[in-house]
Amino acid sequence: MSDVFYRKLHKQLPVIVKGEGVWLTDAGGKRYLDASGGAMVCNVGHGVAEIADAIAAQARKIAYVNGTQFSNEPVEELATMLAARARWAAYKSYLLSSGSEAVEAALKLARQYHVERGDLARRTIIARTPGYHGNTLLALSASAREHYRRVYAPWLLDVVMIDAPYPYRAGALGESSPAMTGDALETAILSAGPGNVAAFIAEPIGGSSTGASVPPPGYYARVREICDRFGVLFIADEVLTGAGRTGKFFGLEHFKANDGKPVVPDIITLGKGLNGGYAPLSAMMATSAVVETIAKSGGDFQHAQTYSHHAVAAAAGVATLDYIERNDLVERAATMGIRLLQRLREAASSGEAAELVGDVRGIGMLAAVELVADQATKRAFPRDMKVAETLVACALERGLVLWPNVGHADGHDGDLVMIAPPFTLTAVELDELCDRLRDSLAATAAKLRTSKVL
Ligand code: PLP
Repeated sequence: MSDVFYRKLHKQLPVIVKGEGVWLTDAGGKRYLDASGGAMVCNVGHGVAEIADAIAAQARKIAYVNGTQFSNEPVEELATMLAARARWAAYKSYLLSSGSEAVEAALKLARQYHVERGDLARRTIIARTPGYHGNTLLALSASAREHYRRVYAPWLLDVVMIDAPYPYRAGALGESSPAMTGDALETAILSAGPGNVAAFIAEPIGGSSTGASVPPPGYYARVREICDRFGVLFIADEVLTGAGRTGKFFGLEHFKANDGKPVVPDIITLGKGLNGGYAPLSAMMATSAVVETIAKSGGDFQHAQTYSHHAVAAAAGVATLDYIERNDLVERAATMGIRLLQRLREAASSGEAAELVGDVRGIGMLAAVELVADQATKRAFPRDMKVAETLVACALERGLVLWPNVGHADGHDGDLVMIAPPFTLTAVELDELCDRLRDSLAATAAKLRTSKVL
């Protein structure tokens, strides 16, 4: 009997004792292929000795000083590395521990930016559904995840939700629907009153919420143009898509602004792949225009956390980014991603596996398999069938780790699994992943047939 208070209260969790590359080993010696890198975190693979060594070396030098009293070397270095990667504007990085914290800080910064300019009415946040930005109360307010929100609804803020671009479920209008063109954002700003809107937050490419859905090419040019016209800050939540996951360092780099130049977000959030899982580390990057507005007022950023700008966490970030750079892992994510998608499509369309797959999509090392009860109508399975969970359990039995997401079809129903392996996955491991996925899909279809769902 464990003394740990786990989030999952009805599950006996295997104890992992070792990780190496894409492989995990539990205390009983069973090996698992980590096809989701945990929660789309482990981009450089498990057990990278040089990252572990960099963390240990920093802990020996100095583990912690408070970020309001001192700076430290890895924090300076990491901020410079991030600024170099977002070279289209001057950004300063505020380092935190989790994606939720980075989002929380980004939304608060947007509000403070407007307050310092004397634009006090600007308090409305616009976000997208489906969409996810974290589980602290402000981040959760901006997240369309009904099952997480329900209990805390009385404590959540009103955030205006617009439909996310979701090509597979865009309906009859397809690319000309307001969700896909970006018109939905303009309509929402006009209806909230342009002078009331502080920020628009979006995942540049859908994470688990829309299962690796890629918006149409012109979407972010339109978003940037609308935000500029109405004085609204654009926050790109790259917690999941950042650090190379989609085959570019930032997911937003897949898009261009109207002038053909990069789309410049006012604020960027990073987490997950920034640390590769080696330490709790996230970043909130803000353009110097935003930071200077606050500095000019004579005040400081009104957001305090004991573990911001943490030296050991930052050392993990520096070592992870170094490792990505030296091993060309962003390019590898782009090229292996093409092969991954092709092999996933083959696996998902073979034999019994094909019976429940509606769509296989993705970009770089971020892919999803969406499961449907009816392929012609795209009808989702009723939520109480727990189809995504069944597939994840079947996969785990076969030594394959997948990440489920539910509720995306209509806010309640919808089943998909994410495939987001470390970028270091070899071609042989990729084939192994797809074979295990095919067998897991077939086993899930067989179970559903036994219970007369298929
Ligand atoms: N933003 C996005 C896009 C995410 O996918 C997540 C987590 O899945 C978060 C924010 C929250 O990050 P964390 O779970 O580290 O708090």
